[in-house]
Amino acid sequence: MIPKRYTITSALPYANGPVHIGHLAGVYVPADIYVRYLRLNEADVLFVGGSDEHGVPITMRAKKEGTSPQQIVDKYHALIKDSFKEFGISFNVYSRTSAPIHKETSSNFFLDLERKGVFEEKTTEQYFDPKAQQFLADRYIVGACPKCGFENAYGDQCENCGSTLSPSELIHPKSMLSGEKPILKETKHWYLPLNKYEDWLKTWILEDHKNWKANVYGQCKSWLDQGLQSRAVTRDLDWGVPVPVAGAEGKVLYVWFDAPIGYISATKAYFMEQAKENPGERQDWEKYWKSEDTKLVHFIGKDNIVFHCIIFPVMLKAHGQYILPENVPANEFLNLEGNKISTSRNWAVWLHEYLLEFPGKQDVLRYTLTANAPETKDNDFTWKDFQSKNNNELVAILGNFVNRAVVLTHKYFEGKIPEAGNLESIDLVLCEQLKALPEKIAHSIEHYRFREALAYMMDVARAGNKYLADTEPWKLIKTDEARVKTILNLALQVVANLSVLCEPFMPFTALKLQNMLQIHAFKWADAGKTELLPKDHLIKEPELLFEKIEDETIAMQVKKLQDTKIANEAEKVVIAEAKGPIAFEDFQKMDIRVATIIEAEKVAKTKKLLKLKLDTGLDTRTVVSGIAEFYEPEKIIGQQVCLVVNLAPREIKGILSQGMILMVENSNGQLSFVSPIENAANGSSVS
Ligand SMILES: [Zn+2]
Repeated sequence: MIPKRYTITSALPYANGPVHIGHLAGVYVPADIYVRYLRLNEADVLFVGGSDEHGVPITMRAKKEGTSPQQIVDKYHALIKDSFKEFGISFNVYSRTSAPIHKETSSNFFLDLERKGVFEEKTTEQYFDPKAQQFLADRYIVGACPKCGFENAYGDQCENCGSTLSPSELIHPKSMLSGEKPILKETKHWYLPLNKYEDWLKTWILEDHKNWKANVYGQCKSWLDQGLQSRAVTRDLDWGVPVPVAGAEGKVLYVWFDAPIGYISATKAYFMEQAKENPGERQDWEKYWKSEDTKLVHFIGKDNIVFHCIIFPVMLKAHGQYILPENVPANEFLNLEGNKISTSRNWAVWLHEYLLEFPGKQDVLRYTLTANAPETKDNDFTWKDFQSKNNNELVAILGNFVNRAVVLTHKYFEGKIPEAGNLESIDLVLCEQLKALPEKIAHSIEHYRFREALAYMMDVARAGNKYLADTEPWKLIKTDEARVKTILNLALQVVANLSVLCEPFMPFTALKLQNMLQIHAFKWADAGKTELLPKDHLIKEPELLFEKIEDETIAMQVKKLQDTKIANEAEKVVIAEAKGPIAFEDFQKMDIRVATIIEAEKVAKTKKLLKLKLDTGLDTRTVVSGIAEFYEPEKIIGQQVCLVVNLAPREIKGILSQGMILMVENSNGQLSFVSPIENAANGSSVS
């Protein structure tokens, strides 16, 4: 059945930080390609997005920054929305879950299920922080993951192995608020009995949706094979949508219950806006969610598979009036220069920073991220690859081809489309390629294989580029002008085709091409034709589509990441707890003197020890020190150090050590000497 309309959702980004290339590559660029392609096919499509503004990480961020959760989400919602707009992500609506319409929609959804008797109400013992007087939901609690042993798993999920957890499963749980071991305390919550829907899910996913991507299908199968359990859909928190029933004071809906309902409330928000703009017109949000001839597709990252393939469908099914997703084309993760992208470690390419550092180059990033999309496995973004995709593909193939075709048309024919004459076999080969590729691109997009689709699109440019290189119109012009007319006509028809075919991937470039060719936006059905540009149609002077990215620019980005790494290392320093006070007399008992190392050698059969001879000003003495891993003996002769001279002598490896050299330990566990900045006489007191 061909759908009458499409509802396309993209995961709601979490409004506790800016968005980065991982978001773009995993969710928003693929969703946007799909939507733009549908629109070029004149489909009725609604592209829904919004910020996810509830949940524990936002309250924690607010606490850390000394502000309110609302201020946090206001700040990041604006930043995220703006980044998406700048990158051409063509949402019909970008809403937010702190909007009143969302509170109303998700409350009603909950009440509906409550009235139908879907939920189980259970009183259980939950972790509670007596010091902070708060229950510890989700990310307020950390401990070791029971599945993989990762030390810092959260109460709702292990970020290492991706398992979904509940706080009671954590080994050695610890409160994120006080750092203390929590106690158990009774509390009542509402549970969604996923187990009751297990048989239905098995049929719906494992039988009826074998066409889902292997990574998505595999994860669902593993969930279903393990067996499903009831999941609490409420929390003891003060930030979120209040549980709308009596006796639930101080409780809110679990963020993963209310967030996907955000797609529905955003749809409503869109039609409310439309109604304001076009008062007479009947606006109907419901057909996008409740009509069987609507195709619903969720674009998400792999960490959201369980919520979109199991929990949300169960909610929709239990409600009874909604359609279910036809596909959930989740991507794997994008890494950055070999390391996992991390907001907390600032290991990311932030979109708002990219926009400042690479103005006008949104399509270069869209192109690179699509060419390298983590569609079937995790993938890596490197700046070097970004540079080479820009220089060797966008500049050298697409940009070069378009530029040649337009420049030569101006040079020989005053910017007018020349008339094509008889076609030779090389022309016919080009026409055949041009005819075949749009269908291939379409087929790949429809099957969510966007990398492949992009490669076919570039094949169009590649074919055009090769055609000009093979026919060499700049040589032929001296002898055969008629032939050159045919060649340039065909080359320009290819450029016109590219203005449609590249639009889903690179919308800014598509606009530039339209402007250069002085044409309106063609539809997908026009692609493949060789008479898009009529004879004598006047085109504009060429404008630069892409420019070369220099080594220095790339080196600067790599350096920026290296600096981040260094800053992260420095943050790892564990500051030892302060010791208790001591009397001044106790301090005075220590006799610390400046001394100079006059001899140094390794202690045989040890890795760490050096035997040093020191001139202390009082005497010459031997000290054994554990610094052999950090200093080579021959290089420290003459080094001034500070020495505790009245420490009782100790025998170490058969050597009598008389005193202790003061050392500083840095974050890597490396030791270095403490030494007077100005040279001091041996025997000078440190006090
Ligand atoms: Zn784990």
